[in-house]
Amino acid sequence: MRSGEPTRVLVVGSGAGGAVTALALAERGFDVTILEEGDRHELSAYGRASKEAMQRLYRRSGMTPILGRPPIGFVEGACLGGSTEINSGFWHRTPREVLLRWHVQFDLQSAMPNELEDHFEWAERMLGVGTSREPWPKSTELFSRGAEIMGWQAHEIPRTAPGCAQTNACASGCPTGKKQGMTRKILPAAVAAGARVVPNCRAELLLRRSNRTTGVLAEHTAENGERSLLRIAADHVFVCAGATQTPALLRRSGIKFHVGESLRVHPMLKVIARFDERVAAHASVLPLLQVREFGPDICLGGAFFSPGHAAMILSDNGSDVGAASNEVNHLASYYVAVRGTGRGRVRPSLLDPRAVLWRY
Ligand SMILES: Cc1cc2nc3c(=O)[nH]c(=O)nc-3n(C[C@H](O)[C@H](O)[C@H](O)COP(=O)(O)OP(=O)(O)OC[C@H]3O[C@@H](n4cnc5c(N)ncnc54)[C@H](O)[C@@H]3O)c2cc1C
Repeated sequence: MRSGEPTRVLVVGSGAGGAVTALALAERGFDVTILEEGDRHELSAYGRASKEAMQRLYRRSGMTPILGRPPIGFVEGACLGGSTEINSGFWHRTPREVLLRWHVQFDLQSAMPNELEDHFEWAERMLGVGTSREPWPKSTELFSRGAEIMGWQAHEIPRTAPGCAQTNACASGCPTGKKQGMTRKILPAAVAAGARVVPNCRAELLLRRSNRTTGVLAEHTAENGERSLLRIAADHVFVCAGATQTPALLRRSGIKFHVGESLRVHPMLKVIARFDERVAAHASVLPLLQVREFGPDICLGGAFFSPGHAAMILSDNGSDVGAASNEVNHLASYYVAVRGTGRGRVRPSLLDPRAVLWRY
């Protein structure tokens, strides 16, 4: 894309929000351009060891602390397809009670459960949402047995991974392409409908005249590493840069009222479990069940597992890391997810305009 080239609609970010927005508008005949800060990767680059995958696909190589008590390690995708390329593909319709609360608390329009029904169905069709057709792997079976002993009900959560090949590599980018990150169907459908995708292009500022956004100033990094500034005029700009970069971009652009004041996270406490029997969790799909007995505030489920991630989770317990590395085939990873009741702030750093600070 050349500087000065106009577009009717500019979408910043190619994750779940940006890709779907681009597809919907391109299909209705709009001239759409998607800017993505991260790179485009082929399937052959997916599924690599944790360190390499995080350097390639994650923001700041997966090393983003949210400052607070306690500090929280935060990760998000920074590649074409955004966090959908590295997520676990578990599918939930937004719960009814959440939609009702948003309606009452924030006066959110057109998002009542019955109004979203068709959209949920569309997404489920596009992403091939369903439960596993294969026998449960050992890590799921063990979780099921544990829940039964505790007298808790556990349910399989549908995923966006039809025909999942059970590589347990979701967090490194699915190497078989079965998990439906945005690069699988939604972005290609947007491109087929006429949208143009510009990877390695970071929106630095929204351009504004009076109270209207008229485009974006972006930095493009060419294959040879050369950087250039692009000025892109647009009739409409959709900022879909994720939960932390969206408020940062708005604030950098002078849009500050109520922006970056209400970050909410749902912390996931990861647990490594050691079993007497062989589990080989890294060679099967992540545990598929969830216990919602304590919902909506707390739920328990299964997490992505690789030897590298296990070492990271155990890194505070030096002696356990050594013992665990000899027992990789007997380990699996699970989580306790907590609905956050705290509130955080997002601010662009004053020292480095590209960096963002989070407090929670
Ligand atoms: C490890 C992990 C596991 C998860 N598991 C699940 C799960 O199982 N089920 C589930 O429902 N959800 C899961 N999620 C959450 C889910 O992936 C996100 O909620 C969803 O992807 C958010 O969509 P988004 O479009 O808001 O942001 P993202 O998908 O993060 O996309 C934002 C995009 O904007 C780009 N961007 C940011 N700033 C700029 C800029 N200035 N200029 C240009 N581009 C920019 C980023 O590089 C990124 O590609 C998981 C998330 C993670 C990180």
